[in-house]
Amino acid sequence: MIDLKKEIQYVKGVGPTRVQLLNKLGIYTLEDLITYYPREYEDRSKPKYIDQTEDGEEVLISAYPMGRMNEIRIRGNLLMCKLMVQDETGACQIVWYNQPYLKNSFKPNKRYKFYGKIKMNGGKREMQSPVFEEVETSKNTGKIIPIYPLTYRLSQNTLRKIIENGVAEVGGKLPETMPQYFMEKYHLCDINTAITQIHFPDDFEQFSKARKRLVFEELLSMQLALLSLKNQYEVQKEGIAFLKEAKMSEMIDKLPFSLTKAQLHVLEEIDGDMENRKPMNRLLQGDVGSGKTIVALIAAYKAVKSGYQAVIMAPTAILATQHLESFSQTLEGTGIRCELLVSGISKKKKEAILARLQNGEIDILIGTHAVLEDNVIFAKLGLVVTDEQHRFGVRQRSKIAAKGDNPDVLVMTATPIPRTLALILYGDLDISMIDELPPNRKKIETYAVTKSMETRVNNFIAKNIEEGRQCYIVCPLVEENEEINAKSVMEMVEVYQKQVFTNYRVEYLHGKMRPKEKDEIMERFKNGEIDILISTTVIEVGVNVPNSNIMVIENAERFGLAQLHQLRGRVGRGEYQSYCILKYQGNSHVIQERMKMMTSTNDGFVLSEKDLELRGSGEFFGTKQHGLPEFKIANLFQDLELLKQIQAISLEIMEQDPLLKKPENKEFQLLVKKHFRDRIEI
Ligand code: ADP
Ligand code: MG
Repeated sequence: MIDLKKEIQYVKGVGPTRVQLLNKLGIYTLEDLITYYPREYEDRSKPKYIDQTEDGEEVLISAYPMGRMNEIRIRGNLLMCKLMVQDETGACQIVWYNQPYLKNSFKPNKRYKFYGKIKMNGGKREMQSPVFEEVETSKNTGKIIPIYPLTYRLSQNTLRKIIENGVAEVGGKLPETMPQYFMEKYHLCDINTAITQIHFPDDFEQFSKARKRLVFEELLSMQLALLSLKNQYEVQKEGIAFLKEAKMSEMIDKLPFSLTKAQLHVLEEIDGDMENRKPMNRLLQGDVGSGKTIVALIAAYKAVKSGYQAVIMAPTAILATQHLESFSQTLEGTGIRCELLVSGISKKKKEAILARLQNGEIDILIGTHAVLEDNVIFAKLGLVVTDEQHRFGVRQRSKIAAKGDNPDVLVMTATPIPRTLALILYGDLDISMIDELPPNRKKIETYAVTKSMETRVNNFIAKNIEEGRQCYIVCPLVEENEEINAKSVMEMVEVYQKQVFTNYRVEYLHGKMRPKEKDEIMERFKNGEIDILISTTVIEVGVNVPNSNIMVIENAERFGLAQLHQLRGRVGRGEYQSYCILKYQGNSHVIQERMKMMTSTNDGFVLSEKDLELRGSGEFFGTKQHGLPEFKIANLFQDLELLKQIQAISLEIMEQDPLLKKPENKEFQLLVKKHFRDRIEI
């Protein structure tokens, strides 16, 4: 038996320094190592004739040096080395910078392979900093080469070698993880072939087979896991049947506005779930500003009127405080008691809250992660609401739910993912959607601009600040980064504080600051003590600063549509006409198209569908930006069709065997356990 949990230091080629570097990549065990999949591949298998190569193409050529290498000093610290090479069809100039030691690497009568990108320079071909090798002894150029996501100081060659050792060690000995009958049915290759071929494919056909199998396994285990969670709730548990007499309409009639059709529809679904004894597990999806909070409040009202307590969990103290304010205001006169629990309140105050909670003197508790602590004990918890759930996830959801006796759970999210995808990713939940905004909302006017408009944009910001408004500026980076050509918070702060907006109060916010510092800045922005807030994307989804009316996004081309839309939703929360200004660089078709979409629609769902489509065309943004789960190999966008197929397959399996107890499905049972590793007990 091979030990997949074996620590990485015992793998051949891994010394103490490399252990640390590998740990940085999340690789701790042999298993982590062999499932650290390549990010892409370079086809160095077949050289191309030079005269057939095209501008911009990454190719392998095989050629002889035509003379000696030339060194040219361009600037004091920049040395260029040039080498002309030729094959049977043509010539190409190879260029390196600052690599004087290459000087004696090439012998005139030997043939070399070069792998790199071709650039046409006035009709002549050039290749910059290629990978190269002598043809006779070639190891790194003669095949399809995996390229791994890397950390600084660990080179591709080193990591490739270590993974090769790891794969050799497990070679042929991995136990199969899916049932035999299943693999035959869906034509999937075995696990050992898959692992070898995903790292070191013989050809692209082998690669696709390997990938298909691994994607299958990954998505299937997620689906089976979610469905078995759902079955557990539904099959095994008796929940609470909230009272019919506790009418939601009593609360709805007290509101100062009428609810939208969509809100009413969603409330009907929730009402139905709540009165049903089966525990509710429902996802409430709705664009920013669609009015989810009031829906949560009305559900909480029903729970309280039925004699239960409710808890509302928000990802940050600011959001929790904001919810408390709106709950207290809306529930005034109903006798329902709300309380806030966040970390950072005094010990004495906390103890008092905990005691009242346990005695049933608090009806609705609103808080952050703090409500998950063991000493938070409810008298009679009936309803759990989590806001912006992608920050929480399954484990925390079940931890908080465990504080009651199978309470109803409502998960709210503003992540506008298309319904097909939502059905799959939230397979353990039923889904409700608010697909309409309250009436009379002013549309956030959105403009996409390039650098030439900078002065006008700044004047526009100044004009609005003079009128008493506030402005957000979002940048992709915290600090300047030589490798990434994008605006950073710290450089913008420097320019805006000292040059452009010297008369205004400019502050900043980013993820590397301590939570307390972040909250303080946000609080001051809310109180109007800051005119311009420069930040990364950390500013919360759902934070309400009605007085801010401009959102400027620097390097907007670097964000996905769904994320731009969420950022835009931070303004337009008050009575003022609001604006979103997207500053972008680059004029590729896809960038233009994305900017056009942003300026032409305010509908988050339309944008997220479009995001998918554009990703399909090669643009890629991490799933993190959507608040979606991360996968090791599957790509939700690329693999959407497969994902749909796998969902259907999983439903079929679970239909036959709801708790995966049949002997022929024992591998599935293990996959589910593994999926929930250190996340949940099942
Ligand atoms: P989100 O879905 O982003 O959480 P909120 O619940 O914060 O949205 O709602 C945004 C604002 O809209 C709040 O001030 C809320 O009181 C208000 N609101 C919610 N529903 C309606 C409605 N039907 N008509 C008018 N205003 C509404
Ligand atoms: Mg909200």
